[in-house]
Amino acid sequence: MAERTSRGIGPVILLGSPGAGKGTQAKQIVERYRIPQISTGDLLRENVQRGTPLGVAAKDFMARGEFVPDDLMYDMVAQRLRQADCERGFILDGFPRNPAQAGWLDAFLEHEFFDNPQRGKCLPIVIRIDVDYNKLLRRITGRRSCPVCGRIYNVYSQPPRVADRCDVDGSTLVTRDDDREDVIRDRLEAYELQTKPVAEYYARKGRLVSVNGDLPVNQVTDQIFQVIESHRPVASDKS
Ligand code: AMP
Repeated sequence: MAERTSRGIGPVILLGSPGAGKGTQAKQIVERYRIPQISTGDLLRENVQRGTPLGVAAKDFMARGEFVPDDLMYDMVAQRLRQADCERGFILDGFPRNPAQAGWLDAFLEHEFFDNPQRGKCLPIVIRIDVDYNKLLRRITGRRSCPVCGRIYNVYSQPPRVADRCDVDGSTLVTRDDDREDVIRDRLEAYELQTKPVAEYYARKGRLVSVNGDLPVNQVTDQIFQVIESHRPVASDKS
């Protein structure tokens, strides 16, 4: 298990296509550095559920699968990042989704974080988990889940003990609709189109680091920890 530390690491942005292991790796970072993972999708869904003015404004865009307009996103993200649990760092999940949001985030962090000695001088490090396209397809199309207990398997890398049966309760495993190959190809293409400009924005600023996501999970985690350690903000070492 990852050793824990309370040192500040500043903002971390994880990029990676569906199936690249972003969720798994984010969990490792949260556990080791005890910083929050901030998902703009989750924040928006919470607002929709609570019926806040933001939720009301965002709902239709989300239902159509479109981006919520940038200016609605900015207030919500700013409010969340100002909370005390973000002082030593945070992982952003789902934000920025376009170069305008990336530019806004840099400006926000420069204004609100640079003058704060607790937070140190820290623009985001952007870590992209690169996975070979065909391996990614296999990984995702191999996914099966138990409709009863929700446990996830993979016919290639984590098969159940008996084919197509859940180890826990013996139920017949299913493939989620959005894990089918044609749907996946579309999702991967959409992801590529969407995140490329964001990755390019950070690459131009020299802040994009790629890690090899084809390696076993723990080796991907090690690479990510190394990147984080080598980019740690100066002022937060005191914590
Ligand atoms: P997600 O859970 O990240 O897939 O987000 C769900 C939905 O929330 C997206 O389809 C968008 O409608 C909206 N959303 C989440 N993050 C953003 C963002 N950074 N910019 C615009 N819309 C977003």
